Amino acid sequence: MAFDAWRFLSYFGVEGIKQARNDNVMAHCPDFEGKHGNGDRKRSFGILEKSTWDRRNSQWTPAGTSNCYVCGGFTLEQLTAKFLSRNLGRPVNDLEAYNWLMEQDLLPEDDEIGHLDELALDLKVLMGEISDSNTYDIAVLDEYLKALHPQALRRDGQQVLSVEMVRDVFQIGYCERSQRTVIPVFNKKKGLMGVISRATRDDDFIRYGVGVPDETFPNPGWKMMLDFPKGDVVFNEDKWDPFNKDTILVIESPMDVPYAYMHKIQEQVDIGAIMGAKPSREHVDKIAQYENVILGLDNDEAGATGTEFLKEELKRRKNRIWTFDSYGNKDLGGCTPEQVANLLQRVRKDGII
Ligand SMILES: [Zn+2]
Repeated sequence: MAFDAWRFLSYFGVEGIKQARNDNVMAHCPDFEGKHGNGDRKRSFGILEKSTWDRRNSQWTPAGTSNCYVCGGFTLEQLTAKFLSRNLGRPVNDLEAYNWLMEQDLLPEDDEIGHLDELALDLKVLMGEISDSNTYDIAVLDEYLKALHPQALRRDGQQVLSVEMVRDVFQIGYCERSQRTVIPVFNKKKGLMGVISRATRDDDFIRYGVGVPDETFPNPGWKMMLDFPKGDVVFNEDKWDPFNKDTILVIESPMDVPYAYMHKIQEQVDIGAIMGAKPSREHVDKIAQYENVILGLDNDEAGATGTEFLKEELKRRKNRIWTFDSYGNKDLGGCTPEQVANLLQRVRKDGII
């Protein structure tokens, strides 16, 4: 499905969700401006599950676009920003809404690649960074390297990572202002592409975010800074050694990479995290340079979709494909230290048990 309108609307507690014709879902209007005195029992609100051709304006209307006969229409980002603002009681902008959609795996699939490119281009133009090779000055990390949140070392309440590994090898730090762990992402040439930040507080609604909140946080209007197009880089590619290794392990979460390093997995195979479940074409190109690819994405629906996509792309390029099932846990991070240490013994040839 192009856009999971049911999951999206249910998440925000919208009532009266009902399938309509033409890949359209109807519901009682969320009524942000109080225009429906009687609670909109009629279902004036509709949202598209798939892109549709708008004959009158001769253009595609993207999946996720909504319209209410009374309140008017919104893009998916605008609608999401309104829902999040209402839930959080503070203004949320479209970029933050977009990040949230990405985090929740709710971006419409058909449109995502084009949309990502468009957004990445917007960001670069805004920041005066037209060139793809543009990177940040590594000195921006100094502020974050002054501290480290203990959560960055733990899995299930147990310390499984060393401070040396996390801080010295991966330069992971902490943003006091937003109380988020800051994970730098470097390209092959060891240039700083940007950072991923991870919430340490349970009530922080962006668990993983591209970038870290700027100095105006938590005042209204704050933005992510040190962000980057995450489809352009695979986390940990700065440490790869494709001349001496013929195998790569591909996982989702950056923080699971140092966990694997604690058990010296990198001495036998290179490791890359695609920072989510959706590989980009760039990701595929980078991964495909290894003869053997071990797929270790999360054991959930999004991970399964990402895995299928990678298998198709890699088979076409004649790579040999293997799988790592995380011993049935959600991901590598959910494995016990002993399981991580024996990770390579668990790897299976794709299709053969
Ligand atoms: Zn309405």
